[in-house]
Amino acid sequence: RAKELGRDGIALFTSEMTATVRKKLSRTDELRQALLRDEFVLHYQPQVDLQTGRIIAAEALVRWNHPSEGLVYPGDFIALAEETGLIVPLGEWVLQTACNRAKAWQDKGLEPIRISVNVSARQFQEKRLIETVATALTESGLDAKWLELEITESLIMKDLAGSIARMYELEKLGVKLAVDDFGTGYSSLSALKRFPLSRLKIDRSFIADIPHDADDMAITSAIISLAQKLDLEVIAEGVETEEQARFLVESGCNEMQGYLYSRPVEEERFNLMLENNGGIHRKPMVRAALLG
Ligand code: C2E
Ligand code: MG
Ligand code: MG
Ligand code: MG
Repeated sequence: RAKELGRDGIALFTSEMTATVRKKLSRTDELRQALLRDEFVLHYQPQVDLQTGRIIAAEALVRWNHPSEGLVYPGDFIALAEETGLIVPLGEWVLQTACNRAKAWQDKGLEPIRISVNVSARQFQEKRLIETVATALTESGLDAKWLELEITESLIMKDLAGSIARMYELEKLGVKLAVDDFGTGYSSLSALKRFPLSRLKIDRSFIADIPHDADDMAITSAIISLAQKLDLEVIAEGVETEEQARFLVESGCNEMQGYLYSRPVEEERFNLMLENNGGIHRKPMVRAALLG
């Protein structure tokens, strides 16, 4: 086949490669500029207590307010930021901004809620992560117990010994740790109990087909019992329907996050939700799910 392609085939292939590389370079440059120009924003998605229906936490999710493309979602730039190392300064910005926001909510007299921040592999491996987290807490004045970092199983497993050490350093600061997208990686269950974790986040792929997929229901309830037995909190992500919420309540899950309650929203809208955080009577759909 290589012979058939001949010189022209190879030349074409090479020029395509060059185009890809060039595009990547210019996108990287754009990302770097975006940091300087302050084009990133955080949206916040509520995490809801399944007993009371009240918002008890927010996950901070970054978006890029692109000057010509509009709002760009993390699926379109986090991988490149990770690859180029730009995730480190971006991650610092996210941490500081999220901590400032959580503290500002408290200062307004709103009931304190936890703030969850995603940390990617590259950030987690950086030695200065501990310092970054400590600085974000000091600068914002947020008590460490309100900050939770979400890390993935695959990140932990990449360098198990190193990750465990890093997790203990973070625990010493007083921050909480959650395993994001739980069930999609391949952490050995016996390793789980060696981690200073607070929470498992059941990946939304297991939630999506409840109540139609019996296997997913079995996996979800198994993760919930596992969490209970290891004395961990457990939250389900991607909860979109009343049936899913009801199943989670019946299975003993602590919390949920998903479009059923709310999509990730801008700061101002999250403010309003917190001000009206009156529990299950506020949201008919959620109330129906929780009361069965
Ligand atoms: P994640 O941490 O698993 O975040 C949950 C994602 O699921 C978010 O997508 C959220 O909008 C979406 N989601 C929430 N509820 C539902 C639902 O009911 N149905 C469906 N279909 N989706 C739902 P988003 O904001 O596009 O973020 C995607 C991923 O990008 C995140 O997955 C996280 O891994 C990464 N990410 C986001 N913000 C940051 C950040 O500040 N730093 C780092 N390192 N990664 C981030
Ligand atoms: Mg997350
Ligand atoms: Mg997740
Ligand atoms: Mg996920």
